Amino acid sequence: MKTHTALLGTLLAVGLIVPASQAQQKESPPVRLTMIATNLYALLDGSGARGGAFVGDTAVLLIDAKMDQKSVNQTIAEVRKITDKPIKYLINTHSDGDHVRGNQFFPATVTFIAHENCRKDFFLAGRDGAASEWNKPELLQFVPGVTFRDRMDLYLGPKKIELWYFGVGHTTGDIVVFFPAEKTAFIGDQAFVTRPQLIHSYKGGNSFEHVKTLTKMLNTLEADRFYSGHEEVLDRAAIRKHIEEMTAMQEKVRTLVAQGKTLADLKGQFKEGEARLIEAIYQEVAKAPPR
Ligand SMILES: [Zn+2]
Repeated sequence: MKTHTALLGTLLAVGLIVPASQAQQKESPPVRLTMIATNLYALLDGSGARGGAFVGDTAVLLIDAKMDQKSVNQTIAEVRKITDKPIKYLINTHSDGDHVRGNQFFPATVTFIAHENCRKDFFLAGRDGAASEWNKPELLQFVPGVTFRDRMDLYLGPKKIELWYFGVGHTTGDIVVFFPAEKTAFIGDQAFVTRPQLIHSYKGGNSFEHVKTLTKMLNTLEADRFYSGHEEVLDRAAIRKHIEEMTAMQEKVRTLVAQGKTLADLKGQFKEGEARLIEAIYQEVAKAPPR
């Protein structure tokens, strides 16, 4: 029962399900695009995470895919309100369902782009061990077919769009989509500030690498706006604060583990909602050689 409750809590926390009572009363508002710079939009509401849209000279690029047919139809309809250019590219920032499940509801003419580790994660069993739906042959065309390792540039006109990989963190396949002219970055789930950070250990995610990866991002990109999958727009100070808070949490876990505390003891020392993150950090500390 306890495990069941914990799993339910997790699913609620990542927004994969909503409580029945809430679902009946309140459906999520329809997908909408809100302009954040010329030709650049944040993709909000509907089911699944927040994403983005860019209208280039030749075509439209989307960042993340929502997670059901209805929200994808709404996304396409919203794009049609601003342009009749075709949706040519869809970038998945990482492999979580709330960012990729909608791929399968887009026309097969869309090219799906992701980090090479993200593509691998599409086929992984879930956290509960259930087989991935992406192993169905008919869905293969919606799995990212264009991948990269460190860097990729896209042009839908004269402006460059930069795709960056800074390393392991939330998973091993999270990328940043950077619009240099707008100093704007879409970072997927790489910085939660109003809820505990998710670190998907089962996908190779690692909290210590996460802080290094984010630091590298700040040091590399001259971005001043960061659009997250589940937050309002963040500035550099907010990302720095997130890094500091994660580091403080890691130090606290390290100290308690060095004092011989168990995972159960540790959880008592943090907020209830932080249990999953604390467990991830604990496992990393327990596995790491002593300093
Ligand atoms: Zn997400």
